[in-house]
Amino acid sequence: MSVVGIDLGFLNCYIAVARSGGIETIANEYSDRCTPACISLGSRTRAIGNAAKSQIVTNVRNTIHGFKKLHGRSFDDPIVQTERIRLPYELQKMPNGSAGVKVRYLEEERPFAIEQVTGMLLAKLKEIAENALKKPVADCVISVPSFFTDAERRSVLAAAQVAGLNCLRLMNETTAVALAYGIYKQDLPSLDEKPRNVVFIDMGHSAYQVSVCAFNKGKLKVLATTFDPYLGGRNFDEALVDYFCDEFKTKYKINVKENSRALLRLYQECEKLKKLMSANASDLPLNIECFMNDLDVSSKMNRAQYEQLCASLLARVEPPLKAVMEQANLQREDISSIEIVGGATRIPAVKEQITKFFLKDISTTLNADEAVARGCALQCAILSPAFKVREFSITDIVPYSVMLRWRTSFEDGTGECEVFCKNHPSPFSKVITFHKKEPFELEAFYTNLHEVPYPDPRIGTFTIQNVFPQSDGDNSKVKVKVRVNIHGVFSVASASVIEKQNFEGDHNDAPMETEASFKSENKDDLDKMQVDQEEGGHQKSHAEHTPEEEIDHTGAKTKSTPSDKQDRLNQTIKKGKSRSIDLPIHSSLCRQLGQDLINSYIENEKYGQPIQVRYIEHEERPKALNDLGKKIQLVMKVIEAYRNKDERYDHLDPAEVEKVEKFISDAMSWLNSKMNAQNKLSLTQDPVVRVAEIVGKSKELDDFCNPIIYKPKPKIEVAEDKAKANNEHNGPMDGHSGPETKPDIKDSSQHTKSSGEMEVD
Ligand code: ATP
Ligand code: MG
Repeated sequence: MSVVGIDLGFLNCYIAVARSGGIETIANEYSDRCTPACISLGSRTRAIGNAAKSQIVTNVRNTIHGFKKLHGRSFDDPIVQTERIRLPYELQKMPNGSAGVKVRYLEEERPFAIEQVTGMLLAKLKEIAENALKKPVADCVISVPSFFTDAERRSVLAAAQVAGLNCLRLMNETTAVALAYGIYKQDLPSLDEKPRNVVFIDMGHSAYQVSVCAFNKGKLKVLATTFDPYLGGRNFDEALVDYFCDEFKTKYKINVKENSRALLRLYQECEKLKKLMSANASDLPLNIECFMNDLDVSSKMNRAQYEQLCASLLARVEPPLKAVMEQANLQREDISSIEIVGGATRIPAVKEQITKFFLKDISTTLNADEAVARGCALQCAILSPAFKVREFSITDIVPYSVMLRWRTSFEDGTGECEVFCKNHPSPFSKVITFHKKEPFELEAFYTNLHEVPYPDPRIGTFTIQNVFPQSDGDNSKVKVKVRVNIHGVFSVASASVIEKQNFEGDHNDAPMETEASFKSENKDDLDKMQVDQEEGGHQKSHAEHTPEEEIDHTGAKTKSTPSDKQDRLNQTIKKGKSRSIDLPIHSSLCRQLGQDLINSYIENEKYGQPIQVRYIEHEERPKALNDLGKKIQLVMKVIEAYRNKDERYDHLDPAEVEKVEKFISDAMSWLNSKMNAQNKLSLTQDPVVRVAEIVGKSKELDDFCNPIIYKPKPKIEVAEDKAKANNEHNGPMDGHSGPETKPDIKDSSQHTKSSGEMEVD
């Protein structure tokens, strides 16, 4: 089972995997740990990653990059329209109104939904992981910005499906960083001590995110997150590009912005210059040969000038820092460390702004580029049954407050309640009780749209079906479970009706007596809201104690312990007065792709998959066959030596040797038949035997033959040997004989327990 973490960046993607030796960031076919988020489509082929990036300037209109912000948005969305101006390729309105791209691929003008584009990128990242792990990859954890709304998250999940990935969690980028930081810390305060508060800051190419987290032993709790979704390294590049465009207009009389190719080259050079200025404060040259109209251009810039140019961008560093401290209700002195990641935090002036605000040195101990992917891989290991990781609970938060609205039979006609406030712990489930006689609709939406970087407040509409009056004409009691799930996505997860049972002779019993304590004073449809935290941060231990609270619709909280609730439930069951029936829910989510459409994207993507599988099989089959052949030869040599009365083997049991001989003869016929059949096939036909089967056969051979033919010769014990043997048994490997001792691959912070188990220290 694969354990993979993917940092799906705007500019750069990283993949980390968990192996028995610990977490490792893996390299692609160019030995590069960074894979650019770039896809270049051609008349016959497509390139993804490094190969695509090298075509940005040559294949301008068909090389797709900078698409992370298009997820889950309509074509008419103002953000899409702003991005559109920046992009050298065309965007297109898809039939469902979403933003897509229009490129020429396989000699045809084709539209691609954004889920297909990211699906292609994720499929490439999956392939890189498969090549590194030498096994199929499906389970993974993918990062998203903490400010992503439901529609954006659902769109990334659909892209994962297109790529054939099983995304166990969409993880907020700063939370992944917090996990990568906290899980290795040995000295976290114990649960009854004051937590250690750490601020995490990530400024990438397209966005700036801040979070503050509280750590105790085995536990991380996000307290608040803030962000500027429109501030990142690219804004600093743009400031330089604008400056040089203006300068070149007067100096060389050229309008760079009219020439996409020249503009892209200028962007590339400005990014390089920006990075150089992070390391060097003196004047640095900018030279581009044959820039436009066969013209060579040149200029220069130094850090002081650059910081002046970017003053308005630098002024945007502080507000999210201030806001995060206010939301978490913390003072500077409550913060023990400030950890920065993301490429753009390497800009000295950005670092200065952060230091100036906290009046404290910032820490750069985390790997600025790889921390997100590593955190995702750790989360994947925690979620995967294939790995044993030390218990570590992660509680994230809901970034925007979520309201529910429904129609009532009362005068004003609508009821409303906030089901999740901003910074509410997540994942989380709540149960709300309604009193209704007929099916009803719940509309979910974001409360404060000005806080949400998305133009539409609607999340979705959920119709609770099959609701009827009780047999006595009374309202039915409908319990609706709402949830923000592990991906940070809101849903109405289930609904049930509590049906009164009419038993003869029961008339004197008060029906629903056990639920009476829930009754609200107000005669409204919404009776009480009862809250159950159903999903803790640690998914493997469902038996964990979970807190409960009850909130009436006026917002007042009353505590209810799990045992109170259990008592009431027991009473209900004893009296046998009611039963719970599940109700169907019809969900209509905003900007949700239909499964049919996703399936068609999957079909289109997978199209190339068999070709790729055949290629990999063809590349790796010879070695696997060779290994098996060698093993067979080796065992045959031992059998031959045994038959020739070689004294090294005279202790072997003849009956067992016979079994080995039979096993080897079968293995040889298997190998020959497979090789003969395979040799008759062309490269375009599916292989008759998979590499994994051959490797499996080799292992079977080892397991069966080795214990027999390599059985140690019994020793004739003499006093001296006995003493020696005793000494050996008191040594460090006591209890582990040769073949059973597994290699113990370690990195500085982890050690293996046994294969497939990882324990993080
Ligand atoms: P996002 O987090 O917005 O999705 P990303 O994860 O792809 O984007 P990163 O890889 O974290 O982004 O950072 C890339 C940005 O960091 C680019 O703008 C790059 O130019 C910038 N960057 C990298 N190194 C330096 C440096 N030494 N000095 C200044 N900027 C740098
Ligand atoms: Mg990033």
